[in-house]
Amino acid sequence: MKWQSSRRSTNIDDRRGRGMPGGGPAVGGLGALLLALLVAFLGGDPSVVLEQRVEVSPYDNAPQVSQVESDRSAEFVSAVLGETEDTWQSIFRTEFGAPYQEPSLVLYSGATQSACGTGQSAMGPFYCPADQTIYLDTSFFRDLAVRHGAPGEFAQAYVIAHEVGHHVQNLLGVSSQVQRAQQRVNRTQANDLSVRLELQADCFAGVWAHQAQVARDILEEGDIEAALNAASQIGDDRLQMEAQGYVTPDSFTHGSSQQRAEWFYRGIENGSVNQCNTFDQARV
Ligand SMILES: [Zn+2]
Repeated sequence: MKWQSSRRSTNIDDRRGRGMPGGGPAVGGLGALLLALLVAFLGGDPSVVLEQRVEVSPYDNAPQVSQVESDRSAEFVSAVLGETEDTWQSIFRTEFGAPYQEPSLVLYSGATQSACGTGQSAMGPFYCPADQTIYLDTSFFRDLAVRHGAPGEFAQAYVIAHEVGHHVQNLLGVSSQVQRAQQRVNRTQANDLSVRLELQADCFAGVWAHQAQVARDILEEGDIEAALNAASQIGDDRLQMEAQGYVTPDSFTHGSSQQRAEWFYRGIENGSVNQCNTFDQARV
């Protein structure tokens, strides 16, 4: 993906290395060392600072990522978020005649507070409608590449664009409609609605990729394949098979590998939100 010249989003809240709010200052790594030196310089006892790090260490269990890799991740995420902002601004203007309210994106490591409860890296990236914010632990990117076999920058961009897709659904009122409908039906039907919501977010991610490509030529060879591969690697059937050795389609909440790849592809091929009606019974 050609993102180096993309506009960077200003809606990023980088909480990495800060630990949980209320859990005392989390000063880690180089920061702690510099602070300790500063305290020593000012005549204090540096061990006070260094010990504080031990107290907040429960959230430092995430795989250690080098500073260079960590900076690159933050740059990349803000470039992709910026690309989604420009694209959805333009779609909202032309399709809905209204401005697009941009979401925030929190980068965190280990755990963080959200309006939807405590976010933990094991949950993977998620969108919280209550604070219109995407929560992302960038160690997920490594997970995506290594554990799920979906490497490549555009696979990562797809994941961010999928979460942005949930934000778009929130703005359009789709999420709340689905939530209300889910309260009136049984578990299997509620799961089916959840799958349709997820597949629409995949389709919206594809619409973003199509429009960003038309406007700013962001794609490189192999990008679409990398994203399609990611979409299919995180399908419910694949994940269930890995986790339990068998597949129970009634319990799917995100869609099968084939469905996820298909809906992402439909979005990227057509570039139109009108092509993303996953709630039309005949189409899923
Ligand atoms: Zn989702």
